[in-house]
Amino acid sequence: MCLPLFHYHDIPIRPMQTKRRVYIETYGCQMNEADTEIVVSILQSTGYVRTDKLSTADVLLVNTCAVRENAEQRVIGRLGDFNHQKKINPNVIVGVLGCMAKHIRNDIMVMGDFIDLIVGPDEYRKLPALIESALEGEKGIAVKLSRVENYDGITPFRTDGLSAWISIMRGCDKFCSFCVVPFTRGRERSRTLSNIIKEVEYLSSRGFKEITLLGQNVNSYNDNKCDFADLLLMVSGINEKMRIRFMTSHPQDMSEKLIEAIASRENICNYIHLPVQSGSDRILNLMNRNYSADHYRNLVKRIKKAIPTVSLSTDIITGFPTETEEDHVKTLDLLKEIRFDGAFTFKYSPRENTKAWNMNDDVQEEEKVRRLCEIIDLQRSISLIQNKAIVGQTVEVLIEGPSKKSGADYCGRTDTNKMVIFPKNGDLIGEYKNIHIERVNSATLFGANTLKILEQAHVNIPQEG
Ligand code: SAM
Ligand code: SF4
Repeated sequence: MCLPLFHYHDIPIRPMQTKRRVYIETYGCQMNEADTEIVVSILQSTGYVRTDKLSTADVLLVNTCAVRENAEQRVIGRLGDFNHQKKINPNVIVGVLGCMAKHIRNDIMVMGDFIDLIVGPDEYRKLPALIESALEGEKGIAVKLSRVENYDGITPFRTDGLSAWISIMRGCDKFCSFCVVPFTRGRERSRTLSNIIKEVEYLSSRGFKEITLLGQNVNSYNDNKCDFADLLLMVSGINEKMRIRFMTSHPQDMSEKLIEAIASRENICNYIHLPVQSGSDRILNLMNRNYSADHYRNLVKRIKKAIPTVSLSTDIITGFPTETEEDHVKTLDLLKEIRFDGAFTFKYSPRENTKAWNMNDDVQEEEKVRRLCEIIDLQRSISLIQNKAIVGQTVEVLIEGPSKKSGADYCGRTDTNKMVIFPKNGDLIGEYKNIHIERVNSATLFGANTLKILEQAHVNIPQEG
């Protein structure tokens, strides 16, 4: 299949008689979720409505992730279903968006004729014109990366709710040797402080209770000499009842000023996702992470000193090229020492274009899996110990909604990002409640509503006289 490049600005966007329905599925991280909200906003402004029914859609889009091979395989599998739908309704437009679009556009082209559009993460403004053109029978590719596009003026489409993502920057300049992001999402660029503040004010006025500031490395946010600490302080001052979260923080760029900013405000959550990737300096060096395990240890010490109740999570990659048992044991030792509250663990997946792509992927699959399991088991036992320390304490929870497992319970999160399940007791979604923690497992805290406890206590207190 050959997709000719065309000039999107030559194609007029005609007013639609009836609104076209767009179905969009999102794969990958929160940044992709936030991108989908931008895509929907762009399409809505030109007359589209979002549908969650694939079978009734006029346009089928998949927003993709290329960070690991298994994410790509899942998307490719799903595109088979889109192909099936196109056979039922040949007029439907099928588009592939996001990181995979840029990364493996040749492979996507080979997949077949049913794909009409391939649109990279910096070209979403062209989508309405590209769809228009596809309806005329002209397929299109737009996968150029930009040094300036940050969709700063576009208000993402969000349904009302409690939590919202806000992308504060795009791309990444770190070039970790395993990572495809700088190639799929381009160079780092920050949004303007003033527009981010406007967006937070707007979300606050709509009743959102929690926002998460997103970027591949939020610590390097920079708008006209305003850094991430400045941004956090300004954003957290907008509504002191609104929780402010952020991710991801790179250990190389975590300044004292930033740690102080987090410590100084009640509503900046005491939760930091701080990927370490490995406990071995040799591997960290090969990964081009630009810090040592000792730098990381000291950083954690400083964070814990400034924010004693902080909860930390991390990312670990097992089986990076040349990783030995000795390197792996160093990672296990670091986990035991730092005692993270949680960890996201991945098997190394070679990605084309990256520096590590040219290294020999020499750790056998079975060995990668063994090391991964060992890390997961260790982290689970550490998370359980961390959570057990909370039993008997009362924690403040933002109530998110009914628990997935039981209609009689609510679920919510602490500011340290721990999930809490507790009995419904006339509470309302979106409220903050103090919950007494009675038991835990490695992933969840289980509580009773303190009100109930007080009532029971009252019943049990012998009356005077
Ligand atoms: N920007 C964040 C940082 O550097 O900390 C991480 C963003 S990346 C999308 C999320 C995680 O995916 C990384 O921290 C890393 O652990 C993992 N990852 C990235 N590339 C990978 C690869 N080629 N194989 C396995 N895991 C990978
Ligand atoms: Fe990828 Fe490293 Fe950038 Fe994170 S910091 S997105 S791992 S290149």
